Amino acid sequence: MPHDPYKEKREQMLIHQIERRGIKDQRVLSALRIVPRHHFVPSSSVSDAYSDFPLRIKCGQTISQPYIVALMSDLLKLEGRENVLEIGTGSGYQAAILAKLAKTVHTVERHPSLAESAEIKLRELAFENVQVHHADGSNGWPPAAPYDGILVTAAAPQAPPPLLKQLAEGGRLVIPVGSRPSQTLQVWQRKGDQYLCNDILAVAFVPLRGEHGWQEEEWR
Ligand code: SAH
Repeated sequence: MPHDPYKEKREQMLIHQIERRGIKDQRVLSALRIVPRHHFVPSSSVSDAYSDFPLRIKCGQTISQPYIVALMSDLLKLEGRENVLEIGTGSGYQAAILAKLAKTVHTVERHPSLAESAEIKLRELAFENVQVHHADGSNGWPPAAPYDGILVTAAAPQAPPPLLKQLAEGGRLVIPVGSRPSQTLQVWQRKGDQYLCNDILAVAFVPLRGEHGWQEEEWR
């Protein structure tokens, strides 16, 4: 194994930002310990790759704070056999974490340049169970449905009906719902034709766009 100068920074991130805030799932902790977050941030922000805040990436988007990535991953309660969908690929970091936690990951991004660079990065780092798609993810990704878990990393006006529909029995949807400046992180779980919803905490995300997202004039 080549020497990784960021290993110690990742360890510190885990102790101070993730475990201290109550994330206990060993698989989630080990995914955050392994995935090299510094490869997913812009070169100008590498020194802040493991800091306790979100960072700007291309196209006016952000890579979430490490704790939020850990929390959302934890809320999906993955065991390793699942087929998972992420909406909002961005840098590809959250998709890489999901790749360590599930069997297959489909991730959808509306900005072609983000989809392309995330795909290149994920290939370079040999995340072979992730497929990146360029599309409007507010409609989900029907070809690979149903999903045991769906994670949306942009704020939606409400849980998009196509995403609820693409959940497998018992499957979970983790999604920030609401407007500016803050939203509520929600977990939906499908039980037959019923959907149970739990509010988790207040979060701040960039908007989900597209058919079931926020329109330009609505997000001010
Ligand atoms: N998960 C990302 C962070 C994403 S920021 C990471 O780990 O880096 C939110 C992303 O959602 C942005 O890249 C934005 O372009 C994307 N997005 C917004 N609306 C979308 C839509 N309708 N379909 C697909 N992606 C969308």
